[in-house]
Amino acid sequence: MATIWVVAELDADGSLARISAEAATLGRSLAQAGGLDLAGIVVAADPVAAAEDLAAFVPRVVAVNEPATRGAAWASIAAERAAALIGPDPENVVLIGAGPDGRDVAGALSAMTGLGLLVNATGVSWTDGGPMVEMSVFGGKLITTSSFTAKGGIITIRPNSVAVEPAGARGSIVAAAPQEPLTLPRVAVVEQVAEAGAAAPIEEARIIVSGGRGVGSAAGFDLVASLASRLGGVVGATRAAVDAGWIPYAQQIGQTGKIVKPQLYLALGVSGAIQHKVGMQTAETIIAINRDPDAPIAEFADLLVVGDLFDVVPVLLTALDARAG
Ligand SMILES: Cc1cc2nc3c(=O)[nH]c(=O)nc-3n(C[C@H](O)[C@H](O)[C@H](O)COP(=O)(O)OP(=O)(O)OC[C@H]3O[C@@H](n4cnc5c(N)ncnc54)[C@H](O)[C@@H]3O)c2cc1C
Repeated sequence: MATIWVVAELDADGSLARISAEAATLGRSLAQAGGLDLAGIVVAADPVAAAEDLAAFVPRVVAVNEPATRGAAWASIAAERAAALIGPDPENVVLIGAGPDGRDVAGALSAMTGLGLLVNATGVSWTDGGPMVEMSVFGGKLITTSSFTAKGGIITIRPNSVAVEPAGARGSIVAAAPQEPLTLPRVAVVEQVAEAGAAAPIEEARIIVSGGRGVGSAAGFDLVASLASRLGGVVGATRAAVDAGWIPYAQQIGQTGKIVKPQLYLALGVSGAIQHKVGMQTAETIIAINRDPDAPIAEFADLLVVGDLFDVVPVLLTALDARAG
């Protein structure tokens, strides 16, 4: 029987990456709709923690113990081990995150299994015996709907497209320790550098306070950071602020940055250009502070405060202090 496979990615601490929990949640609804089997694959030198996490979402997890992932780029090794499990059935569906590693795995898997590939899905439904994949293209101006010419294929899922929901019952975990030699060239990891600002995982934040060109300087971002920390949120930015060198690229939100879906998105001095909007438009509540009442963000913000952010934010901080004290 054809199977929906979720190829899991791991966080640095060995736990399941949130994007993989999203892919697994999606996999469950597709498997239900299509009457297919659902299984997960974790490939790592120590796959146990992530496999345990993934078993909360899918009925069966194959935990592949692969010591070669230590000190080598993970994606090609994971793809090779996953391809051996998935096999050549053209009706198989493979789901994986649309992050840097997920993209690498998807490309290699497509070559090794012969399955087609649809990328950056913002939604997947099951129709006519196969997945129907929605993708946002041209910087979010258009939504396309595509299906595979075969019934199955590989789909990379854009972060924050699915609300994570564990299954009612935990799945089983099968341990595997493949002996076949790896054939793809290996890429040695010679150094790992923690990027400044990456400590705050912006894709997972419930509250984001973003600064744009209106913040004016790196020092101006101290005000953005104060508000973010007072609200228990993290700092985001537009590309204009990142290009100006005021804040690291890790915090950039938009077409060429991160895609976020917080409960609250506070935009300070952000015009709301389409390339920024595509990264944050699914936030539950968007509040903008902008001195221009006609800024494009006025069209999609839930609330626009018209004013100078350097006047409004200090008042907000004082009010928050008064409430806390
Ligand atoms: C291929 C491509 C990819 C891109 N990718 C991205 C991306 O990933 N993310 C992204 O953000 N952009 C991206 N951009 C850039 C995008 O087009 C915009 O240029 C950018 O988002 C504008 O950033 P901004 O809103 O900070 O600046 P601006 O558009 O200059 O807006 C600044 C806003 O601040 C307001 N303002 C100024 N001073 C104050 C003040 N004191 N108080 C209150 N309000 C004030 C102004 O009224 C204005 O609305 C991309 C562009 C291209 C072409």
